[in-house]
Amino acid sequence: AKSDPDRSYRLYDASIKDPRAERRALEGALKSAHDNREFELYYQPILDLATNRMWGCEALVRWKHPAKGMVSPLQFIPAAEESGLIGQIGDWILEDACSTAMSWDLPLKVAVNLSPVQFQRRDVFSSVKQALDKSGMPAQRLVLEITESVKLTEEATATLKRLKALGVSISLDDFGTGYASMSYLRSFPFDKIKIDQSFVRGMMDASDSRAIIKATIGLANDLKISTTAEGVETEEQLNALRLAGASQAQGYLIAKPMSREAIATFISDLRGT
Ligand code: C2E
Ligand code: CA
Ligand code: CA
Ligand code: CA
Repeated sequence: AKSDPDRSYRLYDASIKDPRAERRALEGALKSAHDNREFELYYQPILDLATNRMWGCEALVRWKHPAKGMVSPLQFIPAAEESGLIGQIGDWILEDACSTAMSWDLPLKVAVNLSPVQFQRRDVFSSVKQALDKSGMPAQRLVLEITESVKLTEEATATLKRLKALGVSISLDDFGTGYASMSYLRSFPFDKIKIDQSFVRGMMDASDSRAIIKATIGLANDLKISTTAEGVETEEQLNALRLAGASQAQGYLIAKPMSREAIATFISDLRGT
């Protein structure tokens, strides 16, 4: 298999038995994927529950692998983080998301996921500022999603505060899945909480999930923070979330993530109606 020219492109090469060698091969493949512009952003619509209008989109990265087809971020973001490549890839994601959002017929929000490693590898403030300057997108349209795996050091906190001062919103992703959700919430003035889809999934049959969702929304309301429920797949869930007072909903029921072309059409169709 050593002479196989396609080898560096394989996600999982059965001939590589050493997991470290496999990881190195994946990292090499990611490097060339970045150079060859094989990454692509998909956009998933987010519905505003108060107005029933589209609020914005979350940008979700995919790897359009020449042989494997669409590869999920769950399969390559960890390797991109370990190798540090997420720095460059993350800069590209910010720029591409902002310039795409600028091409839409409506000035909707665009939410971009940030990896903890971007805070170690990059001056995140400069990366974001550059994406805004290059695209000309107003900072008010940009939402940055971080999880509690981003360590809120003094430096990271200062960076996020400078971004907020520019007008960018900061969202706490996957709320409720980590160990320190409450203290994390206290350590930074987040603009939004994203309620993890595991709670939404459980809310119809498990009363504990329902209780956690209600408590989270109540807490967010008290803190003057908005809430987005993720992974909404049924009308039942959507109605229950509306009743519980969630601000926004995102999930396959509303729309699946779609390509740059598809989201542009989706948005201009909204304007037509
Ligand atoms: P996430 O930020 O929690 O993103 C939400 C995930 O839920 C997305 O998976 C989305 O496609 C999926 N999803 C949305 N609605 C539904 C639904 O109704 N049902 C179900 N079962 N799933 C739904 P995706 O795109 O595979 O992304 C997975 C994770 O990869 C993301 O989780 C995020 O942590 C990471 N990721 C994605 N894009 C980026 C990126 O651009 N940068 C970074 N650093 N991480 C990213
Ligand atoms: Ca997210
Ligand atoms: Ca999430
Ligand atoms: Ca997640």
